[in-house]
Amino acid sequence: MLMKKIRNDIILIVSLILIISIGVILYFTMQKKENIAVYIYYDKELVEVVDLNKNQEIVVNDVVIVIENETVYVKESSCKDKVCIHQGKIKAAGQTITCLPQRVFIQLEGSGVDVGV
Ligand SMILES: [Zn+2]
Repeated sequence: MLMKKIRNDIILIVSLILIISIGVILYFTMQKKENIAVYIYYDKELVEVVDLNKNQEIVVNDVVIVIENETVYVKESSCKDKVCIHQGKIKAAGQTITCLPQRVFIQLEGSGVDVGV
């Protein structure tokens, strides 16, 4: 009887460890997913890679790119059509903003990708 009880306890403990491990793994996987990098290109050259979580303003060829509250948008640009400004705010991996006249291209990428290469 006693042995059976101990075995049940072991099964319970092992199950608990498994559940906690899965929880921890899921937690880190989800966090990674939320981590998005902002890739900024000028004239087809990558000029800057910044974290979407870090609020800042970056000026590339007269295009003022604002990163704010995990969204990216173009605040000002010296281009004529202002298409880039009208593209509004982007925040999900895969979304882009393009300013053709100024040759500026902004792309959001999930940061499973190597940053800095
Ligand atoms: Zn523009």
